[in-house]
Amino acid sequence: METETKRTLNEWSTHCHRIAKEKGFWDKERNVGEALMLIVTELAEAMEAHRKQDQPNFKEELADVFIRLFDLCGGLGIDIEKEIVLKSEHNKNRPYKHGKVC
Ligand SMILES: [Mg+2]
Repeated sequence: METETKRTLNEWSTHCHRIAKEKGFWDKERNVGEALMLIVTELAEAMEAHRKQDQPNFKEELADVFIRLFDLCGGLGIDIEKEIVLKSEHNKNRPYKHGKVC
């Protein structure tokens, strides 16, 4: 279990995508919109677990969000570490509350 937590984000993408492929979820070309909505459903499941104050399930559903997101990044060949660095730098240089009033 120790090594499971030592992966980089891109290694998690490769790992989650490999498992999803092995389980047949990439046998046909993936519909990206559908994949994104499945990530949203995991967030909705997390919300429901939060409403029920079911902390173990809440944490599990958040893990599902990441697993589906990493799978999608892996499947699309996205270097998510690079993208996070770029967007984080962009956000760092944005104005307070990104220039919004509320
Ligand atoms: Mg789930």
